[in-house]
Amino acid sequence: MSERNLVLLGPPGAGKGTQAERLVDDFSLPYYATGNILREAIAAESELGKKAKEIVEAGDLVPDDLISAVIEERLDSGEADDGFLLDGFPRTIGQAEMLQEALEKRGRRLTAALLIEAPDEEVVRRLSGRRQCVKNGHVYHVDFNKPKHDGVCDIDGTKLVHREDDKPETIAHRLAVYHDQTEPLVERYDETGLLRRFDGTRPPDEVHGHIRATLAVLRLEEDL
Ligand SMILES: [Zn+2]
Repeated sequence: MSERNLVLLGPPGAGKGTQAERLVDDFSLPYYATGNILREAIAAESELGKKAKEIVEAGDLVPDDLISAVIEERLDSGEADDGFLLDGFPRTIGQAEMLQEALEKRGRRLTAALLIEAPDEEVVRRLSGRRQCVKNGHVYHVDFNKPKHDGVCDIDGTKLVHREDDKPETIAHRLAVYHDQTEPLVERYDETGLLRRFDGTRPPDEVHGHIRATLAVLRLEEDL
């Protein structure tokens, strides 16, 4: 078995998205970020997509079993036979158990849970300074990645905004939810030997190199 069945974990702002893009490039893995695959299911108007659409339009949270079913649909599509990269699910122990069951049913298992760590104060510093253009979502930072002209996107000239998600009150809430729900999951993956930790305060290139090296070692171990 030489699949790369991967889960990405970490607080908001630790750089999961950046690392996900690179891993997807490296290994041609399908990337299953919860929001994206739900949107894709809705756009495809599959049975599950129709269910998800009703729930989303009613402003309700999509239940775990529906998210799991959407992921399973993708697992069975053939595109994920060599592996996948999950982001945003699982976030809780209950969701992780659902995923494990779904994989076991298919004779598969997780290869690793990649945790990109960053302390709360670093997360707040990164996210609170983030500005995004309204048109295409290009991301800037008031300290680390300033646009050429204040408040205007370099690429398309549209206005930069401070997203609701990146305001201090919201960040504090997102961090509280992360500590409350996901830390127990991190412990669980640590106990079961699946967890690999990465220092999200290091430069993205370095984190990426470290993840690649770790995945190479996992592959060697599997071949033994
Ligand atoms: Zn832009």
